[in-house]
Formats: sequence, C-alpha cells, structure tokens
Amino acid sequence: MEEEVKSLNFIEHIVEEDLANGYGKQDLRFRFPPEPNGYLHIGHASSICLNFGLGLRYNAPVNLRFDDTNPAKEEKEYVDAIKKDVTWLGYEWDTERYASDYFQQLYDWAVELIKQGKAYVDSQSSEEMAEQKGTPTEAGKESPYRNRSVEENLSLFEGMKNGDFEEGKHVLRAKIDMTSSNMLMRDPIMYRVLHKPHHRTNTDWCIYPMYDWTHGESDYIEQVSHSLCTLEFLPHRELYNWFLDQLVDSKKLRPKQREFARRNLSHTVVSKRKLLQLVESGVVDSWDDPRMPTISGLRRRGYTPESIRNFAETIGIAKRENVVDVSLLEFHVREHLNKIAPRVMAVLNPLKVVITNYEEGKEEWLEAENNPGDESAGSREVPFSRELFIEQEDFREEANRKFFRLKLGGEVRLKNGYIIKAESCTKDVEGNITEVQCTYDPKSKSGSGTEESLRKVKGTLHWVSVPHAIKAEVRLYDRLFSDENPDGHKDKDFMDFVNPDSLEKITGYLEPSMKNAKVGDRFQFQRLGYFNVDTDSTNENLVFNRTVTLRDTWAKLEQKS
Ligand code: ATP
Ligand code: MG
Repeated sequence: MEEEVKSLNFIEHIVEEDLANGYGKQDLRFRFPPEPNGYLHIGHASSICLNFGLGLRYNAPVNLRFDDTNPAKEEKEYVDAIKKDVTWLGYEWDTERYASDYFQQLYDWAVELIKQGKAYVDSQSSEEMAEQKGTPTEAGKESPYRNRSVEENLSLFEGMKNGDFEEGKHVLRAKIDMTSSNMLMRDPIMYRVLHKPHHRTNTDWCIYPMYDWTHGESDYIEQVSHSLCTLEFLPHRELYNWFLDQLVDSKKLRPKQREFARRNLSHTVVSKRKLLQLVESGVVDSWDDPRMPTISGLRRRGYTPESIRNFAETIGIAKRENVVDVSLLEFHVREHLNKIAPRVMAVLNPLKVVITNYEEGKEEWLEAENNPGDESAGSREVPFSRELFIEQEDFREEANRKFFRLKLGGEVRLKNGYIIKAESCTKDVEGNITEVQCTYDPKSKSGSGTEESLRKVKGTLHWVSVPHAIKAEVRLYDRLFSDENPDGHKDKDFMDFVNPDSLEKITGYLEPSMKNAKVGDRFQFQRLGYFNVDTDSTNENLVFNRTVTLRDTWAKLEQKS
C-alpha cells in the first residue's frame, strides 16, 4: 500500500530529530492537558488533533490530563464535557490523569526543595511582592523573608498545608534569581493557600500548586516526552526546565516543552473565560448553544467530527498566531455533509401554488433520490398534490431573463415532479402575493421516460405538498459577532461586538418523510443548506438547526461591498 505523502509540521520535525538523536519510538508519549474550567472550543481542537495525531503517527500513548490546580474555577461538569468532546472527535486517550493525583508527590518534592534551600515561605502581601518584582529592564528586590532558615520554612509550609493560615498570609516561592531578565524566574510562587474544596480532593488540601510547578512535574511523572503548549508559555520554558533540573533522575526521561501558536477563529472568541461570560450574561443559552465555537456547540449545530479534524489538519500547526476565517471551517463541514447528508425538500418561506388542472383530492407519490452523488443512499417517495408550497423568493410576477425561477407565463420543473407554468396570482390588500395559480404538464413527470419528461426548462424548484407538509421550528444562525476579530480592539470590549441578530426562529414546512427524524440527524434541505435535528426536538415539535448554507453568502456580500 502506498503511504500517504504528507509534509511534516515543525513539531513532527522536532520529534523526528529526537528519534534520529537517540530517542526510541517507545519513549514517545504525549498528553492533552485541559484545565477543567470550561468547555473545549475549536482552538482546543487544534491541540487535540496535534497531540492525538502524534500518538497515531508514532503509535505512542497520549494521556488526557486534567490540569486541575485551581479549585475556584474547576468543576466535574467540565471534566465530563471534555471527555465527551475528545471522544466525539474520534480520539482515545491512553490513561486519564489529573494533576490533583500528584498533589502529595508535588508536596513532597516541595519539601525537598526547601531542605535544599531552593524554596522559601514568603509572608508579604501580594502587593509588596509585586513591587519588588522589578521590570524587565530593572532587577527585582529580594524579599526580606528570602533567607529564612530551613527549619522555619519547613514548619511554616507544614502550617500552610494544615490550614493554620488564612488565604494570602503566606506563599511558597522558589528561590531562583531576582535579577533574572526573565521575570518568571524572579522567585516564582509555587504554592498558595486556598480554603476551597476541590472537585476531586475535596478538603484534603488547602494549599494548591501553581501551574509552573505542576505542569512539568506532571509531565515528568507521566514520562511525557514532548509537552506541547501554546506560545504564551515560551517564556515559561526556562522555569519548566529549572524545576525539572531540581528533580530529574538521570535514568528517567526528561520531558521537553515546545510551543506552537494558538489558533483563533474569525467572528468569535476562543477563550473559556470569555465563552463563560457569554453564557453567564445570557448572550447565548448554554455552552452548547449552536452559535458557540465550542466543540459541543458545533456538534449540536450539526458539525461532524471529520469536518473539525479536516479543518484542524488544513490549518496545520504554526509558529505565529493568526486569525483563521470561519468560512474555512464552514467549507469543511459543507464538504463532508455534501457526501453524507440525505437530500430532502423543505420550504422555509412558503408561498402557496395551486395546480388548477390537477384533480382535487388526488395524490401521487414520486420517487426522489436521497443523494444524487451516492447511489447507495437509495431513494424515497414524496407526495404530490394540487396544493403545494414553494419559496416566496422563487416566484415573481415579472422578471428578466436571468431569473430562472417561476414568473407569470413562465415554466419551471418541480424537483422530482412535473413542469408547471404560472398562469395568474392573487394578492392581499397590501399587494403581497398570497397564491399562484399554475397548470402542469401531466406528461412531464421526472423519470417517466416520456419525451416531455426529458424536456429541459431553465429552473428547478423545491416544493412540498401542502396537505402532507409537516411543520417544524427551524433555527437560522448568523455569526455571533459582527466584527471579524472582536478580541482585537484595544479600546473596546469583545462584548461590544455581539451580533444581536445571530438567531432567527421560523416555521418551516417539510416533506413527510422527515417525521421520524431523530436528534442529531443531518440533512440537506435542497437549495437551502444543511440542517440537523436539534437536541430540543421532540416527536411533537421538531426543531432543526441550520448548520451551514449551501454557499458562502458572506463571501458574496464582502465581494459586493
Ligand atoms: P482558554 O484561554 O480557552 O482557557 P487555555 O489555554 O487556558 O485556553 P487549557 O485548558 O489550558 O486552555 O488548554 C489545553 C490545551 O489546549 C493547552 O495545551 C493549550 O495550549 C491548548 N489550547 C488552548 N487554546 C488553544 C487555541 N486557541 N489554539 C491552540 N491550542 C489551544
Ligand atoms: Mg488556562
């Protein structure tokens, strides 16, 4: 079998180089390390696809590690949602780990550092410590507590652990270098007192380790070979290494931190904190609101795991941050749904058509292909009768020759059905068209093999039979933010750019085959777009989401303006 030719990304190059320089393939191990303080978003998908992609490429284990060191913001609900999302994306982790599993080990190592004179308890206020921190161009000042005796440090640290002190009274700091040009090396905090119950360790601990002290040591415990994180951690790498230097046993593998660029998506925000703000302020209904750029929101909206993986694969891994246009994500879901979604007919802005030469009370069931691009998708039957709905915008009394839809005196084919001709129309007092009277050509039925059935007319319209149509709520979504980069304005808050018209709920009329549609089922509503059944849907009240339109209407608008 021919191997797929794919160029390596720069992280894969680093791994290849390590393999060439003596790492064994069996040494490779990766992890995806979310903090359970929110739901995963499309930015995380890049990190998931990178880490799990490496696992698949090198047949190496990938841990799912919850970076749960801040009990104030973390919850079990988020842990469960994260596991569901990673699984849905199609990945399997080797073991499920928690930084909180290592609290005891981290504590023991911290005690070791104190004994070696490499950590001390500082009893100043955070303001005082901030003042002494200096600036990137100006050295910091040493804390007056920096040279406490080992005994005093040990006893205070134990007191912190035992809950003898209030929050903010003491912290444990690494004793590194207050003159370092890297601000993070100026005696970083390793532990703070927090009297908050933790979602897993409950009230066992009232001191919690900081990210920098936890992350590298967790990688070391799990023997992760390549610890991949986003670029903002580049300056942390020196500290990551310093902490490892204090522990590393030469017989064990030393993890490596490497950085890649965060991925941002246009017309939205990708930060759990900001997404939480959208939920809490009621701009959206929930974390899985179909307008959210969360994995759960995209799933509910009708996205497939394949489309998200293909998107992540296409944008790849970069060394510099940028904003990826959301239309690329939409392209990928369109491409996948085009292959898999059955075609059905639905009318969203109905206009009644009466076929005056069609017998009253008669019905016919016409054969309709489920997917013209995929014979194996089979076919179904759709009912035809004297009264039909078409889209309002598909009829005009008069129009020029470029209007390939229905106009008075003109003909169109009804998809899977007959050719009809518009003879007259009725209007209400305001002049709105309320009904179109047509005649049909009884010999023109699609697929009937007659000469008339092969007759070509310019337009083909979708339609549904009025007496057979089933009603459904249809939710149409627009971009959640009107600005391309709502986060990118110095003088404005991202919330200022919320699009007030991001959701429109209408009633649609669907062909009767849709009555058994189940939550999650995906369809193409012909000529309209891709839709799926929302989780709010019930047998009595069907609810559909528009996943994406058939074409990129925004790109067209932008071209025009
Ligand atoms: P947020 O600001 O949304 O909370 P985070 O980086 O704090 O993001 P984590 O839970 O720490 O979220 O992220 C888990 C992993 O996913 C980390 O390795 C992080 O670097 C990566 N990640 C998070 N956001 C993005 C993004 N937008 N693009 C690529 N990777 C990301
Ligand atoms: Mg974070």
